[in-house]
Amino acid sequence: MVKEVKTTCPYCGVGCGVIATVEGDGTVAVKGDPEHPANFGRLCSKGSALAETIGLDGRVLFPEVLGQRTGWDVALDLVARKFSDAIAEHGPDSVAFYVSGQLLTEDYYVANKLMKGFIGSANIDTNSRLCMSSSVAGHRRAFGADTVPGVYEDLELADVVILTGSNLAWCHPVLYQRIAAAKTARPAMRIVVIDPRRTMTCDIADLHLAIRPDGDVALFMGLLGHLAVSPTIDRDYIDAHTQGFPEAFAKASALSFTEIMERTGLPAMQLRKFFRLFETNEKVVTCYSQGVNQSSSGTDKVNAIINCHLATGRIGRLGMGPFSLTGQPNAMGGREVGGLANMLAAHMAIENPEDRDRVQRFWASPTMAEKAGLKAVDMFKAVADGRIKALWIMATNPVVSMPDADAVEAAIKACPFVVVSDILRDTDTARHAHVLLPSLGWGEKDGTVTNSERRISRQRGFLAFPGEARADWWQMAEVGRRMGFSGFDYASPAEIFAEHAVLSAFENSGSRDFDIGAYAHIDDAGYRTLAPFQWPQPAATGSCVTRFFAEGGFYTPDRKARFIPIEASSADRTSENYPLTLNTGRIRDHWHTMTRTGKSPRLSSHIAEPFAEIHPRDAMDLGIRGAGLVELESPHGKVIVRALVTERQALGSVFVPMHWNDQFAAKARVDALVAPVTDPHSGQPASKNVAIALRPFEAA
Ligand code: SF4
Repeated sequence: MVKEVKTTCPYCGVGCGVIATVEGDGTVAVKGDPEHPANFGRLCSKGSALAETIGLDGRVLFPEVLGQRTGWDVALDLVARKFSDAIAEHGPDSVAFYVSGQLLTEDYYVANKLMKGFIGSANIDTNSRLCMSSSVAGHRRAFGADTVPGVYEDLELADVVILTGSNLAWCHPVLYQRIAAAKTARPAMRIVVIDPRRTMTCDIADLHLAIRPDGDVALFMGLLGHLAVSPTIDRDYIDAHTQGFPEAFAKASALSFTEIMERTGLPAMQLRKFFRLFETNEKVVTCYSQGVNQSSSGTDKVNAIINCHLATGRIGRLGMGPFSLTGQPNAMGGREVGGLANMLAAHMAIENPEDRDRVQRFWASPTMAEKAGLKAVDMFKAVADGRIKALWIMATNPVVSMPDADAVEAAIKACPFVVVSDILRDTDTARHAHVLLPSLGWGEKDGTVTNSERRISRQRGFLAFPGEARADWWQMAEVGRRMGFSGFDYASPAEIFAEHAVLSAFENSGSRDFDIGAYAHIDDAGYRTLAPFQWPQPAATGSCVTRFFAEGGFYTPDRKARFIPIEASSADRTSENYPLTLNTGRIRDHWHTMTRTGKSPRLSSHIAEPFAEIHPRDAMDLGIRGAGLVELESPHGKVIVRALVTERQALGSVFVPMHWNDQFAAKARVDALVAPVTDPHSGQPASKNVAIALRPFEAA
């Protein structure tokens, strides 16, 4: 019998709908869902290879303690006892959860509830911290809440699409396809790509600004200064719906044109062309992704962009607005349920006593975290210095993906008690687990995810659970019960989703814009058939607000947006010993640390091994041959990969993909080079501006 199931791709934040067909012999085929509003039937190479990644090779099938198979009762009792003992002896802040944008919203909800409302600490953070937390901080500073004002359709309706810090063609391919199709249909549409590298996204660009690393703040400050003295400025919008314009303008106008040229590395003609494109086209969307977020000034970059849209009133209307693109499939879902160390739940604020009280009463919880917990980089520092005695890592591989990865591995090795929930038993992180718990993978697990345009879609299971693997929410609920807490008797993800929907509307907590109260009474059948929808959908109206802020109505106390006055800081980190700038990022056909895409020969055939992309002049100066081995060194570690010499790379800079780990290549964990430097507002690491030395590798 053939079974057809509508589900969602587990990779990037586009959140494409997928139809999985399971044949009678168990063979699985996938295709794009023509009815899903994110992709209308399209899939990229990763999505279309999903069926090749679901085999049982390498899976962890049974709970293990110290590498030995055991039963769930033994493993869960041990986790509950070790966490309870640590809390009793050292307090609630001596334990931590490090979770993932791969978790479903229901998993995230239970993890957040257990840590913040019952353990009483906010030490739960996520690999989404590495992905979009600067956008969250920027939204909260400007809008008073973490709200994406626009929708994907705006990218097709815009006359100018600015892609800054985003290799959309490889990292959000279906959105790239949508924009490319719109440009083909409407050739007058203009695309600007702002990126130090000439990426594949530049294939559709009318203007490529090969900006200096972290030059974005100066670029958008310069743009604000330009707009403020042009007829484009929207005084009515500024007066009615914003605060702080004079201060932001004063900072922007203090930057001379020459300084903007120096800080961005861009020639005057290109700067003028860019300013003019923004000035003369009303329908402008500015998309930003990791190149903006992963920076020590990431939040300022986000606000510099938002400032320009506020100054022109180009926000929340058809074809215009600032648009943050999330990297992971459920980075947004984690934000909704507060699965970050500095958030609460339903977009409420952990620092707000009324919000804490509201959530505590709703959960009927014995205690409530009263302050923000440790963000990812600080969390692993606390593991390293012994403050964290028990750590639970779910659905992520920090030994490969965290900055200063060698130090993170040493910290995990030294931690007295480490639990890892994953689908694979031999990841670089799982190897260090005292307790390894088998989780469900894509095609097995059930729940919801939210994409970059606030659209909630179902991920549905269509495969039998392998071995004794169980859902992440179930594992955490079981541990919560075994620690003696009530409120964790969930029978299904539908029950968790409904509780989350009720909380979003509880005592007006949805006033911050996130309210899906319309789904508060959803039952199993309704959850099974749930069609993709965008938040908010409050119980009172049941209808969705598609775009935000065209008429103001921000989530600050006076309902006005905030211009943020920004200082253009210096971004050059190079030195005599480390004279080049390393930029890390994704390639087209692999995902994160390759624990899934690495299983597909087809995906691996696009780019088969890790590389360091360098400019021909740098290669010549350093005596490096194309395809020769090179060693990259920073104060934090070393990596050996093959040189890829190309003029796509800017002089003085090096690009290395983030995916390869020690399973696929020796000494290729590029995050071992990345300094644990973070943005002061968001805590997001600066993975795109790392000072390194580069030399030909000579085998000893
Ligand atoms: Fe999956 Fe993203 Fe590709 Fe869509 S664009 S198929 S969500 S990886």
